[in-house]
Amino acid sequence: MPVDKKGGKTTILKALRINFTFNKTDMTQEERNFRIMCKYIPEKAAPLIVKWVTLFDFKLKITKERNSKLGDYRPPYNGSNHQITINHNLNKYSFLVTLVHEIAHLTCYNNHGNKVNPHGEEWKKEFKNLMSNFLSKEIFPDDVLYGLMAHMRNPAASSCSDPKLLRILKRHDEEGKSGNYFFLEKLPYKTKFLHNGDRLFEKGEKRRTRFSCTELATGNIYLFHALAEVELFEPISHVESSFKIEF
Ligand SMILES: [Zn+2]
Repeated sequence: MPVDKKGGKTTILKALRINFTFNKTDMTQEERNFRIMCKYIPEKAAPLIVKWVTLFDFKLKITKERNSKLGDYRPPYNGSNHQITINHNLNKYSFLVTLVHEIAHLTCYNNHGNKVNPHGEEWKKEFKNLMSNFLSKEIFPDDVLYGLMAHMRNPAASSCSDPKLLRILKRHDEEGKSGNYFFLEKLPYKTKFLHNGDRLFEKGEKRRTRFSCTELATGNIYLFHALAEVELFEPISHVESSFKIEF
């Protein structure tokens, strides 16, 4: 995923926001929250999440995609309540895992304040505890469920830092996308690709876990995660013959 090294040039789209405040329709707030959550997570997981929204008293903002993160948690300050934000475009399994990850930050904050490491033992305990409610075949398909079970033995800081789990979760990204999407690491050096629909880049050298890629319109260099999903710009026949697509 690219890191905007220039800063300040980040596009901010209007966030899709769930306001967990009283509403004037006939629906109760919980019913309304349930309906909204069902759009983003597996239906069987929604009742408990909706319960937690009330129980833990947090505001959930579903935001535009951020390349730097899938979600985040902010503890209460200046009279506001806990806030969790999640990228809107995650598939429902990734969304649920990310949401539970952030709720674990919340319960960890409630139990330990700021005194512990963000992804230390205390957080891991909370995350395992909360996730155990969802590890069922009614909620996750088999591949995700087994991937998650392995992940839960020692949860990494995010599903992004567990490439095995990330690969499994990514398999379930929208079927609506054309077959032209690939993990960046699978493309040969100097392949041209599109990111976010209309920005054209050329793949460059690997630097640790990321690839430095040049945006062709500006010449600026951006760092992309090896597992960033990008759209191939050139027809596949233009790509070197030794290149095989493996999923
Ligand atoms: Zn975290």
